[in-house]
Amino acid sequence: MSTVGEQTPITLADLPILSSFPSWRGFALHSLVIVAVYRCVVCDRPRESTMVATRGECGELICPKCFAHLVRTENRGLPHQLD
Ligand SMILES: [Zn+2]
Repeated sequence: MSTVGEQTPITLADLPILSSFPSWRGFALHSLVIVAVYRCVVCDRPRESTMVATRGECGELICPKCFAHLVRTENRGLPHQLD
């Protein structure tokens, strides 16, 4: 089993994308064919998931948890909660 080196940054270009969801305020969410191991640029923690978010066009990877937090933060003040 080959593993990705922990020091190796991975961008979206390195990942096989199953489908991409419409971008939201410069962010986009992607469903992957594999479980990707990557480092989230927001929380700076290693993550493993089949979903990643990106910011802008540079392909920096953001974990779903941080993405959800960003969405929630941006939407604060609205009467409803996003799950
Ligand atoms: Zn994160």
